Amino acid sequence: MSTDYRPMWKELGLDLEAHDALLGVLGPLYEQTFTKQPNRPAGMKYFDFVMSEVHGLRIQELMDARKAGRKVVGTFCTFVPEELVLAVDGVMVGLCAGAEFAPELVEQALPRNTCSLIKGAFGFAMARVCPYLAASDLVVGENTCDGKKKGWELFGEYAKDLYVMDLPQVKSEQGRALYRAEVVKLKDRLEALSGRKITVDGLEAAIARVNAKRSAMHRLYCLRAADPAPISGLDALLANQVFFYDDPERFTGSVNAICDELEARVAAKQGVARAGAPRILVSGCPMAVPNWKLPSIIEGAGAVIVGEESCVGERGTQALTEIKGSTVESMIDGIVDRYLKIDCAIFSPNPSRLTHIEAMAKKYKADGVVHYGLTFCNPYQIEAGPVEKALEKKGIPTLRIDTDYGPQDAGQIRMRVEAFLERLKG
Ligand code: SF4
Ligand code: SF4
Repeated sequence: MSTDYRPMWKELGLDLEAHDALLGVLGPLYEQTFTKQPNRPAGMKYFDFVMSEVHGLRIQELMDARKAGRKVVGTFCTFVPEELVLAVDGVMVGLCAGAEFAPELVEQALPRNTCSLIKGAFGFAMARVCPYLAASDLVVGENTCDGKKKGWELFGEYAKDLYVMDLPQVKSEQGRALYRAEVVKLKDRLEALSGRKITVDGLEAAIARVNAKRSAMHRLYCLRAADPAPISGLDALLANQVFFYDDPERFTGSVNAICDELEARVAAKQGVARAGAPRILVSGCPMAVPNWKLPSIIEGAGAVIVGEESCVGERGTQALTEIKGSTVESMIDGIVDRYLKIDCAIFSPNPSRLTHIEAMAKKYKADGVVHYGLTFCNPYQIEAGPVEKALEKKGIPTLRIDTDYGPQDAGQIRMRVEAFLERLKG
């Protein structure tokens, strides 16, 4: 970072010593994971810059936005519609939960058998090392799995203002009505927070901005169908992760610029791995920054990841929001319909997720699927069995990996991934 941001971090109430320790790990981990990859697209330099300034310039931008009277809204789940936040001229940011921090503090609050994602969110909050959380005027939680639902009862202590959305567990008529009512309540809450009423024009523009971001990602995903793959799974994951932090227009422009470059690479048959390298689709729990453990292992073993069936990936961005009708009410229907297409394992049953995994495996010509479940995540770990069985039945080799954020099992996972790649060769 070129500027001294310590006064800003102090103003935000961060624990500077603990924050230094975090940055001291994050920087080298990023270097080691990303910058040494062979044949990286030149456009990834933008993401290198974003990551180098992830606690600096972007936070400064959030602070400037707040000084200009705009509100910053932190979220943890893809079910919180960004369209509503943008429609009140707010800024939405995903809250980091991709690493464990201060486990000794976290385990005073949460049982040990809690997933790493929830523990990560608490660790960053309790140790006061997340400037995004500190810069958020409002944090929106959501009742998805039991861990999060009960966790919010404790999390309020660490957020300026915590608002919890209820979510249905079944995609039925009643489930839709519940989600719609919650979207309307969130809209009212955001209007009260910002002092701005959502208008037809404002909401239409907001929908278009978020759709543009998603469309740029769809373009990127499609290019990964080429063999050789023009971009690594690690770099594509990074773009999926930055999706949640960056300024929407700047992000869209940067992803489209990379896609221009990748189109030229595909035409010239240039790739990040040799043609014919094993192609893997990763499916399962979301991977937030800086959770790069499994993709590093998979690509380090000589495979290339060609898709992420994940909320930090195609599950989260797959559908566009249709601009329905010409009233705020009808547009809310479009938002509700779009978000209820997300195939999260908290829904029961959740058959469309399997259909989507199969479609992605076919579209991106994956040789196999690696199912990623976070230890103690009941929804995804329980769904993993039937998903594996159904994929294998259709001739799609599948490997189930259950892990957490710790490095202890990396060697064992590497061995299992290597054996899986041998199986794919056979
Ligand atoms: S996996 Fe489910 S709970 Fe987690 S971010 Fe995605 S939609 Fe939300
Ligand atoms: S990974 Fe699983 S247990 Fe953890 S927050 Fe997401 S749905 Fe809940």
